[in-house]
Amino acid sequence: MGMDKFTRAANIDGKEYAAELLERIRADVETLKATTGAVPGLAVVLVGDDPASAIYVASKQRQTVAAGMKSFEYRLAAETSQDELLELVHRLNEDPEVYGILVQLPLPVHLDPNAVIQAINPDKDVDGFHVSNAGRLATGNPALVPCTPLGCMMLIKATLGENLSGLHAVIVGKSNIVGKPMAQMLMNAHCTITVVHSQTRNAAELCRAADILVVAAGRAGLVRGDWIKPGAVVIDVGINRIQDGEKSRIVGDVAYGEAGHARAITPVPGGVGPMTIACLLSNTLTAFRRHHAMVATA
Ligand code: NAD
Repeated sequence: MGMDKFTRAANIDGKEYAAELLERIRADVETLKATTGAVPGLAVVLVGDDPASAIYVASKQRQTVAAGMKSFEYRLAAETSQDELLELVHRLNEDPEVYGILVQLPLPVHLDPNAVIQAINPDKDVDGFHVSNAGRLATGNPALVPCTPLGCMMLIKATLGENLSGLHAVIVGKSNIVGKPMAQMLMNAHCTITVVHSQTRNAAELCRAADILVVAAGRAGLVRGDWIKPGAVVIDVGINRIQDGEKSRIVGDVAYGEAGHARAITPVPGGVGPMTIACLLSNTLTAFRRHHAMVATA
């Protein structure tokens, strides 16, 4: 894997990969509809009128329908009480047409996101945030796993192949939604794991040891060229809006222009981002398959 300074890192095209994944999901949905006589359905709950969340939810709904699934959308007023929201979650838990439930975060401040997430039936928890799903992943028996690290894992395997055994993976960030589950997925794939976070003393040196470097810190340009080993695969999860003269633009956590000696790198935008919604639908399909397998063996 000898790389000299004239080598250009391959671009990992998340947009293209997400489109392929959605096409595979659509084909699988068609087959499963015929064999089970049922249709996978995803319920998305949006509380309040945060404009970014509204755009995101609309895009989820469009792609759910395009994949041949049923989409159930619940838009609740910003003043919705905790009890009302929990009541809706309980109703969706019982609804046989709903295989996946997603409550869009962040919630208005008077609502407790943790209580809401833990009220979701873990078998319908397509965000993979329920403690049962976190526990299943941590014990090497994953069921529904968080969408963003799932998408990263798919991009890593698309680049390096299925066998990651023995590779050294360094993850920057230890959040419950990205860093921590990412580390567990890579550990389950028999990588050696290092987790770097805001209190780590020798972050650059540790990152330089990585065969696989996943960065999810939310700090524009944190990872410089000399943090990257020649030939490493770099997955940049960061989404940072920076001011560029009059305009603003989105950049990742990696100084992309300095990463030419990597084997491959995800661009921002167009890398990890497009995979997240595709993985939400992939999880809905997983929930549907698990349900029907359970019913079949019950
Ligand atoms: P978070 O704020 O919950 O966690 C950030 C983590 O980075 C923390 O564990 C912190 O210790 C670590 N960190 C912060 N500064 C650091 C530094 N200087 N050096 C080393 N580590 C540092 O964030 P999150 O929810 O995990 O998201 C991380 C980034 O990924 C954000 O930019 C977010 O917007 C982005 N994101 C993207 C997607 C996607 O679909 N592409 C999904 C989720 C999050």
